[in-house]
Amino acid sequence: MADALATYRRMRDFSRTPEPAGSEVTDADGARFVVQRHRASSLHYDLRFEIDGVLVSWAVPKGPTLDPKARRLAMHVEDHPIEYLHFEGVIPSGQYGGGDVIVWDTGTWEPVKTDDPRAAVENGELHAEVHGQKLHGRLVLIRREGQDGDAWMLLHKRDQHAVEGWEPEEHPHSVLTGRTNEEVKADPARLWRSDLPAAEADISLLPQPLPGQAIDELDGLGKQGTWEVFGRSVKVTNLDKVLFPGDPPITKRELLAYAASVAPVVLPYLEGRPLNLHRYPDGAEAKGFWHKQRPRHAPEWIGAWDNPDADPGETTTYVVADEPAALVWAANFGGLEWHPWTSRAEAPHEPTYALIDLDPGERTTWEDLLTLARLHRTALEHLGVTARAKVTGRRGIQIWVPVVPGYTFDDTRAWVEKLSGTVGLVAPDLVSWKWEVKQRGGLARLDYTQNAVNKTLVAPYSPRPAFGAPVSVPIGWDELDDPDLRPDRWTIRTVLDRLDRHGDPFRVLLGGAQRLPEIS
Ligand code: MN
Repeated sequence: MADALATYRRMRDFSRTPEPAGSEVTDADGARFVVQRHRASSLHYDLRFEIDGVLVSWAVPKGPTLDPKARRLAMHVEDHPIEYLHFEGVIPSGQYGGGDVIVWDTGTWEPVKTDDPRAAVENGELHAEVHGQKLHGRLVLIRREGQDGDAWMLLHKRDQHAVEGWEPEEHPHSVLTGRTNEEVKADPARLWRSDLPAAEADISLLPQPLPGQAIDELDGLGKQGTWEVFGRSVKVTNLDKVLFPGDPPITKRELLAYAASVAPVVLPYLEGRPLNLHRYPDGAEAKGFWHKQRPRHAPEWIGAWDNPDADPGETTTYVVADEPAALVWAANFGGLEWHPWTSRAEAPHEPTYALIDLDPGERTTWEDLLTLARLHRTALEHLGVTARAKVTGRRGIQIWVPVVPGYTFDDTRAWVEKLSGTVGLVAPDLVSWKWEVKQRGGLARLDYTQNAVNKTLVAPYSPRPAFGAPVSVPIGWDELDDPDLRPDRWTIRTVLDRLDRHGDPFRVLLGGAQRLPEIS
């Protein structure tokens, strides 16, 4: 195996390239294969078969296909280490293979007509029965005679899995994460430290969670005290006060534990932005109120922003939550709901998101709202726009669309108005465009007016003041078709499990800033 990987090692400088350096891993469940869609200096698909503990590999410029008529050029390339099997992330530009990689397909395979696939490759003909999520059936690789030794031909046999006209580019999503190359490039989840041994090389770029002992320390405090969390000393008070009705009721201590646990995930949506707090110091059943002015008693490490446009009597200084401990402070201050501005403090009149607020009326059923959300999904996909939806924790659904700098709120408001107006034409019986709630006849409002300075939507993962402390939760587009989806499906008691298992669907928005296409 060391010999098989020698070429691979020669071609890479392991002090610079975040790819696996190779160690011996064997798999008892049989041989695996992977196809990685790799945007390097040119786009290609890497087809790799696990043979004798390495990945025997071909680069296929036009990609593998189920089309039995297709004959694809496949360049036989050096074997790759088995750790590369499910690598999805980025390789620095300027290096061998620099670009972005997704796991386009993976599964198991077995060689046909031989039980020595390594010899079959050496002899220039490999027949492989593959069981992937996209690829199924018999692939055949044949070395092209009279060419230089690396050029092979790849075809799919005319078997029961063959599909004429099938094109890989029409199936662009990762089978591991559902993401496209573009989305992985914008916000890679993985990095390989190739200056470390392969077993330690895989570095997660996801937010680092709160250490478990921090929650134990909070549980160990009395009614109040000082909590050492995320490197800050946060004064916490009234810890046993019930803030949400629930079964059992939810105390402030539990809210603070949630705020600290979710803070690393929420922070990218808060940092650098003025933060409006919806405060419920007497709990979710009492009347809440907006609190925008940064209080004088706030610790000096809590970020601050002075609004140069403040008129007399308006809020002058806002809180900016630039570190996770700030969210704990805000929750202790009675900030049950977190509402970051759509713009950043450095450019308060330039939105970073266009917001689509699907606001149900009294007569709007959940199915109606899902219909409107799915229509927006279709429209956004048709336009090629990166966006994600979230349930609000109350009754609604919101869609966030990241935009590049330079737009005004007038721009984003007009764009959302046009988009939602087009969607509304498809479902006119579900939507009212009347301004006054009473004149809407109980119908839903597609509210584009939230695209304005200092108008805010609730942050992802913010609690809502209702029974059980429901949470506003980002979802994948396909979850709009999940029969179990509800606007208040997750609470502060259940959403952390979901994050552990499925990650944060909004992360693709962080690096996804885009120009808004014309809507005709
Ligand atoms: Mn490649």
